[in-house]
Amino acid sequence: MQIYKKNSDIKPVNDQVGALRSKLIIFHFLYVLIVEQLKGIMITMVQETDLAIIGGGPAGLTAAIYTARMGLKTTVFEAEAIGGVARTTEKIENYPGFLSITGPELVDKMKVQAEHCGANIILDTVGSIDRAEMIVNTSRDQWKTKAVIIATGSKRRKLGLSNEKELEESGLSYCAVCDGPLHRGKIVALVGGGSTAAHDAIYLAGVARKVFLIHEEDKLDVDEDLTNQVFSYKELEPMFNSTIEEAISKHNSLRKLVIRNHKTNEISEIRVKALFVAIGEDPFKLATLTGIETDGSGSIKVNDDQATNIEGIYAAGDVTGGIKQIGTAVGEGVVAAMKAGFFVKRKKRLEKKMEENSVN
Ligand SMILES: Cc1cc2nc3c(=O)[nH]c(=O)nc-3n(C[C@H](O)[C@H](O)[C@H](O)COP(=O)(O)OP(=O)(O)OC[C@H]3O[C@@H](n4cnc5c(N)ncnc54)[C@H](O)[C@@H]3O)c2cc1C
Repeated sequence: MQIYKKNSDIKPVNDQVGALRSKLIIFHFLYVLIVEQLKGIMITMVQETDLAIIGGGPAGLTAAIYTARMGLKTTVFEAEAIGGVARTTEKIENYPGFLSITGPELVDKMKVQAEHCGANIILDTVGSIDRAEMIVNTSRDQWKTKAVIIATGSKRRKLGLSNEKELEESGLSYCAVCDGPLHRGKIVALVGGGSTAAHDAIYLAGVARKVFLIHEEDKLDVDEDLTNQVFSYKELEPMFNSTIEEAISKHNSLRKLVIRNHKTNEISEIRVKALFVAIGEDPFKLATLTGIETDGSGSIKVNDDQATNIEGIYAAGDVTGGIKQIGTAVGEGVVAAMKAGFFVKRKKRLEKKMEENSVN
């Protein structure tokens, strides 16, 4: 009797727990549903800007100063660190106005000025551009824009040496014009055979005592005129059919290169103070994804207005190839900004007229 009574007492408690559990499951289900719906709404919420500038290096920040000063809503997207490659440069001695300035100091001034003029700088990576709708897709948001300036810089191809990273601290450079003068009167080497390498070779010949020009082919990949110009410099010594096997440094200073001639299989050693690498750039995916024309080395093709083959999309700085310096990036940033800015203003006027016509 007592047992029966106990069971009957317990049963309703089990029912209550069961009911509570069902309620909790329904509540949890509804909660997940609402959160997912909200996330979806947030992801598809499209923000608006007049100009989207992709890349916050010298070219992008300069463009931002100009378009913001034109009174246009300007949004800069930067994937890594504001200031781009220039931020990583220890000493800049060829940017007008400063006898010597560090990279971080210079780009911080540019950032402050861009923000002072009204540009909005967002730390986010642009993954794609919808050229038909003029929508820039970042890792977090979508931005509807009237024009785009691509200023994403370039990714110099590495040699692939196992100690390449540490060599960057002890004499290996991807920029002859920047670092060449640091090795004035010394013996240096340059690897590469294209147009950039040829121009770098001429530049280095005017600075270094001797320049070994190492190239894997049996001649330079440039026209005869440029080839003749390169080899008119007695400071240049070509090492064709050759590749670098090893680069040896000691006490933070490059000492020698081990070179293999793969035609004769001969191994030789040369003592150099610096090694300059000019073997091209990694292709720029965002451009190819968007259908923007690039040249053989992956740089974006632009006309005198810094306009690409797609209406409303402009490019400036290292991403367009040519002479890759802060001065040129800044100059191209100005042209791109002025041309894109006028394009946006025209577009806005037309949109306003159409709106007025539809009201009347
Ligand atoms: C070692 C070295 C030393 C140098 N020294 C000098 C010097 O002394 N003097 C000189 O004038 N020049 C020097 N230069 C060259 C100079 O730094 C560059 O020419 C200049 O920084 C180019 O500016 P940029 O804005 O075109 O590109 P970058 O400075 O490369 O900036 C491009 C920016 O775009 C961002 N980005 C790329 N993809 C995306 C994306 N999908 N979404 C959002 N952001 C993106 C990158 O993170 C980067 O911050 C040096 C270069 C090197 C490598």
